[in-house]
Formats: sequence, C-alpha cells, structure tokens
Amino acid sequence: DIGYINGRYIGLNELAVPIEERGHQFGDGIYEVIRVYNGKTFMLNEHLERLIKSGNAIKLQIEHSIDDFRKLIHDAIAKSGEKDCCVYLQITRGISARNHLFPNVPVSISLTVKQIVPLQKSIRVNGAAAILHEDERWSNCYIKSLNLLPNVLARQTAYEQGCFEAILVRNGMITEGTSSNVFMVKQGKLYTAPLSRHILAGITRMAVKKICKQVSVDFIKQSFSKEELLQADEVFITNTTSEIVPIVTVEGQTIGAGRPGEVTTKLYHKLQQFVADCKE
Ligand code: PLP
Repeated sequence: DIGYINGRYIGLNELAVPIEERGHQFGDGIYEVIRVYNGKTFMLNEHLERLIKSGNAIKLQIEHSIDDFRKLIHDAIAKSGEKDCCVYLQITRGISARNHLFPNVPVSISLTVKQIVPLQKSIRVNGAAAILHEDERWSNCYIKSLNLLPNVLARQTAYEQGCFEAILVRNGMITEGTSSNVFMVKQGKLYTAPLSRHILAGITRMAVKKICKQVSVDFIKQSFSKEELLQADEVFITNTTSEIVPIVTVEGQTIGAGRPGEVTTKLYHKLQQFVADCKE
C-alpha cells in the first residue's frame, strides 16, 4: 500500500496534509475510486471523465489533462507492486489561509493504492441486508464530492442495525445507496433510477448496462418507489469495490426468495468475465 501527494510518494501514515488544506477544512474537493484487476485498471477512461465532470461542476481549476492522471495512476500502481487493488484519487482546491472564497493556488492531488479487501464470502453467497433511509443529501449528487457526511451517517445507522447498506429514499422514490447504485428485478426486467442530479452515475452501473445487452436483459432507467422495491423479485447494489452485491432483505422484509436471484447471479458472473477483459 502506498500514498502520493503533490508529486511525492509517501507511506500511508506519513503526515502530509497542512492544516489549512481545503479538503481537510471544507471538504472542498472531489474523488474517484478505481478498481485494478490483475494489474489492469477497470474502465479508467470512464472514471477520469467523471472526475473531470465533477471538477468542472465545482469549478476546480485543474491544469492536468486526462492523460496526466492516467500516467499518474499507472505509475502509482506500478510503484505499489499491487495487482488486485483500489486506487483512491482526490483533488482539492489546494492549500491556503482558511476563507470560503476560492484561493488562487494550485489544486492538491493525492492518491492511495491499497490492496483490495474482498467482500465477505457469506454476503456473496447468501446476500446482504439493507435498511431504507431518508436521502438527506444535497441536490448535486452527480458530483463525486468529498462531502459525505449524510452518507456516513446513513451507512453507520445501517451497520448499527446489522445491515450492509442504507438505501436512500427521496420523496418516496429510491435514489441510490450511500456508496452504491440500487437495482431491482421485476419479471425478468432490470430497473434502476435514471441519471439525474440525485444520483451518482456509477461506473459499475454503466458496466451492468453493457452486460445486460450481452445477456438480453432489459435495462430500464425508471425510478421506483420504496413499496415497489419491497415487492421486487430481486434487489442488488453495485459499486467499484464490491461489484454486484445481492440484497435479500430490506427493512427486515424478505425480497423475492430471500437469496441471491437468478438475474443477479447471472449478471455477477458475466461481470467477472467482463473485468477479466480489462486491457489498460
Ligand atoms: N453512488 C454513490 C453515492 C457512490 O458513492 C458510489 C461509489 O462509491 C456509487 C454510487 C457507485 O459508483 P461506482 O460504480 O462508480 O463505484
């Protein structure tokens, strides 16, 4: 495991961020989490495009090009010696005396490369539990912003109730999880919320969309209510680190047969083939 900040490789526990760094004091920045399989990055272009989109949305003045970030990430992976790992990349508005107004300083770029912690086998096999939680976040959830307090609080509430994830509900409709996109299967068709300001455009969601085409499963971008979620045949969540996680109970209510469903399992296996084809 290694770290990097502003041109320097460091140990993960090394002190490196000045107190008046805006990520530290304001959460004034953005991030990405990128999966590496067998030394190859998964959908790196898509991650970098989303990074730039997040940066533009918060008016970050980033001098670096997508190619600069690609090189930085590949160099860091090589330096770490890891093969199956996650890259966490963060960009903040830099280091300057605390003031809400934008400073005229370069952005701060940091990253970590860490070995992947595999998902608990019992969750893969038996599925996980989730709670429903009010979506208390702001109206720009398409930005992968460092401000994760509502996500952290909802996730902790889920954990304290013995659950793996909190599925967020805005105006009665499912948006996404605290760190995942949410899907339901009903009569063989797959449903997920359409892209909007209320959800993050997940890269794994994008991969699932591609895979659905290959296996002839309808991928329907349509919002659904919490009642519809509870009536689903199957539910799963997706993100970069956990890929596809079957959800078998929500708010203590059993979903479908109470075990990972047929469509979920098929998509999971297909995703494994898909990631094995990582080229970069
Ligand atoms: N939604 C939120 C709020 C997230 O934090 C994440 C990732 O952590 C996702 C969705 C899934 O995105 P991705 O598949 O790109 O990891």
